Amino acid sequence: MSDCCSAPGLLPFEQALANMLAQVSPVTETLTLPINQALHYVLAQDIASPLNVPPHDNSAMDGYAFAIESLLTSKTLTLVGRSMAGAPFQGECQAGECIRIMTGAKMPSCCDSVEMQENVSIENEKITFLQEKRFGSHVRNAGEDIKIGQQVLHSGDKLTAVDIGVLASLGIAEVNVYRKLKVALIATGDELKLPGQALRVGDIYESNSFVLAAMLQKLDVEVIDFGIIEDDFQAIKAAFISADKQADAVISTGGVSVGDADYTKTVLDELGEIGFWKIAMKPGKPFAFGKLANSVFFGLPGNPVSALVTFHQLALVALTKMQNAKPLKRTHLRVKCSSDLRKSPGRLDFQRGILSVNSQGENVVSSTGAQGSGILSSLAKANCFIVLPSEQGRVEAGEIVTVQLFDQYL
Ligand code: AMP
Ligand code: MG
Repeated sequence: MSDCCSAPGLLPFEQALANMLAQVSPVTETLTLPINQALHYVLAQDIASPLNVPPHDNSAMDGYAFAIESLLTSKTLTLVGRSMAGAPFQGECQAGECIRIMTGAKMPSCCDSVEMQENVSIENEKITFLQEKRFGSHVRNAGEDIKIGQQVLHSGDKLTAVDIGVLASLGIAEVNVYRKLKVALIATGDELKLPGQALRVGDIYESNSFVLAAMLQKLDVEVIDFGIIEDDFQAIKAAFISADKQADAVISTGGVSVGDADYTKTVLDELGEIGFWKIAMKPGKPFAFGKLANSVFFGLPGNPVSALVTFHQLALVALTKMQNAKPLKRTHLRVKCSSDLRKSPGRLDFQRGILSVNSQGENVVSSTGAQGSGILSSLAKANCFIVLPSEQGRVEAGEIVTVQLFDQYL
C-alpha cells in the first residue's frame, strides 16, 4: 500500500493507526469499587451530583449573620444566638437582631448576609457594624460549586486523586469502573541479558521490556512480564500461547524485521492472524499487528528507539481505546528549528528534539544529535518529537517545524 507521499510498499502511518484502531474493541466487564480503591480506573458510568455543593447557604467567614434590611434603621444589632459548623442556629430572629456565625456554618433562615468579626465592635450583646455592607456579603450559596443533578464525571474518565475527592464530597461511596487491561510483555532475542547478569561477548542488556513495563504502569494496566524468550521456535510458541491465555494484549519486541523475523513470524502465522506491516515511519518501519485466539498482538521492532516510538505512537493509542479511556490528546506546536535536520522524503519522521525558550522569548527546538534507532539516550535527552511529514526533505536551521510535546508516558 502506498500514497503520493510514502515510499512504495510502505503503509502510511495514519492508515496503520486507523487499521489498528478499527480492529481493537474496548473491554466490557465492569466492577464496583469503593472510591478509595478506584484511583486510575476508568469510569463505566456518568456521575451526576445527588446533592447541591455546598448543601446549604453557609458563611465564608467567622463573624455575624444578619438581614441586610436591619442595617437600614440601625448600625447596631442585638445578638440573639449562634450558628456553628455542624450545629446550626435553630430559632427565629427578628429585624434588628444578628447571629454569631462560624465559617461553614449554615446561614440562619432569617439572615442573608455576613460581616467578618474584625469589622464590628462588641459591647455586651450589642454588635455595631462599622462598614457599609451589601446583600449576600460573605455568604456561600447552596449549589454554587455543584448543582444537584449536574454531571460531574463521565464514563471514560480515568479517576484522578481530585476526582476521588469530588466523589467523596458528593457522598458517593462506590463507583462502577471497567476492569483493568492485562498486557503481556515478551522480549525476544538470544543476545539479551537482564540487568544484573553478566554479559558474554555479543550480548547486550535487555531494555525494551523495562521501558514498556514502566509506560504500561503509567497507563494503569496490569503487566504480565514474560521476560526474555530465546530465538527458538518452541520457546516462542509456548510463550505466545501462555501470554494469549492470560492477557488482553500481547506485546513483543524484536524479531519482526525481515530475515531474523522467521521464528516470530512462523509462530504467529500458526497462532493467529497477524499482519507484518512496513509502516512509512521513522524510527519503526517493521511493525506487526493482529489477533491471537483471545488477545490482540503488537509486534514492536527490537531497536530500543523504534520499540518505544511505535509503542507510544501506535500501541498506546489502541490500548487507550481498549481500556475505554478518552482518546489521548497530544500537543503540537509550530516552532523554529535551530538545527539542520537530515531527512529523506518517504517516511513520517519522529526525530528527538529539545524545546526551549531563547533569549528573545521565542520557542525553539534543537535536535538531540544522532538519531539512530538504537540510541536510547537520544530519547532520554529529548522533551519532544520533531514530527516531519513524509514528503519533507532535509530541514535547514531557521525553518519552522512541528513538534509534539512529550506527554505523561515519556
Ligand atoms: P531485532 O528486531 O530482533 O532484529 O532487533 C533489532 C536490534 O534491537 C538488535 O540490535 C537487537 O539486539 C536490539 N534489541 C532487540 N530486542 C531488544 C531489547 N529487548 N532490548 C534492547 N535491545 C534490543
Ligand atoms: Mg532479535
